[in-house]
Amino acid sequence: PSRSDVYYFGAGPAALPQVVLERASASVLNHDNSGVGLIEQSHRSASSTQIVASACQHLETLLGVPKDGSYTTLWMQGGGTTQFSAVAYNLLGYWVQKSLDANNGDLEAVKAALANAKADYLVTGSWSKKAAEEAQRLLGDELVNVATNSKAATKKFGSIAPEETWNLTPKENNIFSYFCDNETVDGVEFPAFPASLEGTLVAADMSSNILSRRVDVSKYAIIFAGAQKNVGGAGVTLVVIRSDILKTQPTVDTLRKLGLPIPPIMCHYPTLTGASSLYNTLPIFEVFICREVMAGIIARGGLEAQEKVANEKAEELYSSLDQGGIYNVVPEKNVRSRMNICFRIEGGEDVEKAFLKGAEERGLTGLKGHRSVGGLRISNYNSIPQEAAAKLAGWIREFAASRK
Ligand code: PLP
Repeated sequence: PSRSDVYYFGAGPAALPQVVLERASASVLNHDNSGVGLIEQSHRSASSTQIVASACQHLETLLGVPKDGSYTTLWMQGGGTTQFSAVAYNLLGYWVQKSLDANNGDLEAVKAALANAKADYLVTGSWSKKAAEEAQRLLGDELVNVATNSKAATKKFGSIAPEETWNLTPKENNIFSYFCDNETVDGVEFPAFPASLEGTLVAADMSSNILSRRVDVSKYAIIFAGAQKNVGGAGVTLVVIRSDILKTQPTVDTLRKLGLPIPPIMCHYPTLTGASSLYNTLPIFEVFICREVMAGIIARGGLEAQEKVANEKAEELYSSLDQGGIYNVVPEKNVRSRMNICFRIEGGEDVEKAFLKGAEERGLTGLKGHRSVGGLRISNYNSIPQEAAAKLAGWIREFAASRK
């Protein structure tokens, strides 16, 4: 089939707007009539620097990042997974340096404070589980507190326990708090910012719902997202960091004396932001794609408009599933993701295979659930047009009718 015959609902890498791919294709061969392709051009050329700077600007415009320099935007490699490590290193570093400053450089006092200190992780799906495990691996179990674990309580991911049941560390001993805003594998999304984390340094993984709704950046210490779902292709990750975190980091010597881990240079945010994302060779082509995608969102009315479209598509898809009579949406209703719609079909795997086969025949592809959980998953990212969601909702209704 050709592109125009297919709507691709894959979870990531995910579909991109046709117009962006056309521009990117032309740039691969000859970027801006320079005679050199974008993949070939130096990351230190004026043109590359301009692409990175404008990608930062678009991101800051869309997210409404304060313009007073209190936040810094960074493009990195290593995917969302590298951020699991970088967040832990840099936020621990910030806490250590603050503690050292408050104790007039007394390392013994910092050690004593560390004995009660913890980073709080909300484990609400496969990705926050991985992030918590990485923090445990790097920082040690003693410094990590899993404040809630949806799977431990209910045997499967698909819910978020009420905030009053979370076992949060008292604020004075909290190093930072971490959550995944949208769990791609399990279809669980936080309906709103978890209020009980307020007053702590909050890091959020928004890999699969970034730019799909408005965000109050001021509530976060770090927001990160792998680009390959809602923003671009695989290979770059965007990070928005509170600037004081970059300025307040311990020396390697301090970390050694405290027996704490030393971040690899590629996870050390101040080094990377100090070089405006170009400490080493950044894949500028991938940043270019993100920039073009973001320019399109801005032109269509920004996140307010994008949020409305995302919600409408999700509502149409969920209502066709709810009314079908044969579908079971995996997560609980109050935490259903607008981006990753996970469901099972009554009758077992053969019926699910028949659904997928019929979908493929209609040009609706990429609907298989993550290999770890099975079932079906509709990824309803920004690039999925309303007519694609409508066509899929139509197939959901038609298949249900055929089973009765
Ligand atoms: N976080 C979330 C929410 C994800 O969906 C993914 C990947 O699908 C990751 C992190 C890991 O990203 P990467 O594969 O870019 O390391």
